[in-house]
Amino acid sequence: MRTLLVTGGAGFIGSNFVQLALAETDAVIVNLDKLTYAGNLDSLASVAGNPRHVFVQGDIGDRALVRRLLADYRVDAIVNFAAESHVDRSIDGPAAFVETNVVGTFHLLDSARDHWAHLAPDARAAFRFLHVSTDEVYGSLGATGRFTETTPYAPNSPYSASKAASDHLIRAWHHTFGLPVLTTNCSNNYGPYQFPEKLIPLMIHKARCGEALPIYGDGGNIRDWLYVEDHCRAILRVLEAGRPGEVYNIGGDSERTNLEVVDTLCALLDDACPDSPHRPHARLKQFVTDRPGHDRRYAIDASKIRTELGWRPRETFETGLRRTLAWYLDNTDWCDRVMSGRYRGERLGAAAPS
Ligand code: NAD
Repeated sequence: MRTLLVTGGAGFIGSNFVQLALAETDAVIVNLDKLTYAGNLDSLASVAGNPRHVFVQGDIGDRALVRRLLADYRVDAIVNFAAESHVDRSIDGPAAFVETNVVGTFHLLDSARDHWAHLAPDARAAFRFLHVSTDEVYGSLGATGRFTETTPYAPNSPYSASKAASDHLIRAWHHTFGLPVLTTNCSNNYGPYQFPEKLIPLMIHKARCGEALPIYGDGGNIRDWLYVEDHCRAILRVLEAGRPGEVYNIGGDSERTNLEVVDTLCALLDDACPDSPHRPHARLKQFVTDRPGHDRRYAIDASKIRTELGWRPRETFETGLRRTLAWYLDNTDWCDRVMSGRYRGERLGAAAPS
């Protein structure tokens, strides 16, 4: 049985990971989350009361707190999801991205090194620090080619630059200090519990309300989409069998333009809501001024994790999108509580697509 310190476990991917790991492994999870606007305890309602889950509100940069959690719970692996994650917010206010994604990751990593250095030899060998990162660190692709683990870093947004910096710290702590780290770089995720500022949940929410569906530029930007549960299974697999010091790219072989994503969603919504006064939902589409520096295309070559660790996604984009839409339609209260700010007792500003 492992004891995992999961950071950012009240966010989108983290909360999905916590639920999956509790359901499918016997791990004990200490969930450290600062509860920024993106952290939502509603997303952990299904694990409330589970004796293998401990929630702690706090910052990954708080070394005294992290040191105490690592020692008190005898943590033998860390999975670091905690981050500022929204590209548009990083353009409006990059400081928080540097603070958490760079400085916070540094403190977490160095606290992990202290803890690891004092473990008994067997425990030292088994310890893992898994850093969850993004394909955006590789920059933008032309019409062809895909990102591999050796593609040079070329981040273009404050968000991706801050994630790239954190990836370099992780690499250095392995090469310099021998800390057994693992890095995963994943493509765009979608699925339940995603904050409705990101493309897919934002479009579902707006279409449901009959509001305009804002699409950046010509809608031709391409992302490689992966259902969140498939990402979480990949992380569990890397944690279990990944080689320390290695990087694993994770992706779903599902490249779609933003326009294709929105059109597919609108068609699914038309079918799912035959009585909606907003049908056909595609007429709500509205092209808006492009995001500055908007990367044109991302695509992941996931052959390393497929061949080395035997991971592959269970969902196609179409099946995953159907599951996602069904979840949002069944959980309108979750979304309404986020949009009204009731989930944290305050009203949030307007959201923009990612
Ligand atoms: P999210 O914004 O939904 O969640 C981030 C969580 O981290 C929130 O719960 C927030 O409260 C918490 N947090 C923020 N700052 C913190 C701090 N200083 N200390 C402790 N907790 C803090 O993000 P997400 O979409 O779930 O992404 C999780 C991770 O996966 C991020 O590192 C992101 O870069 C990476 N990633 C995301 C995607 C994607 O498509 N969403 C794709 C690839 C990689």
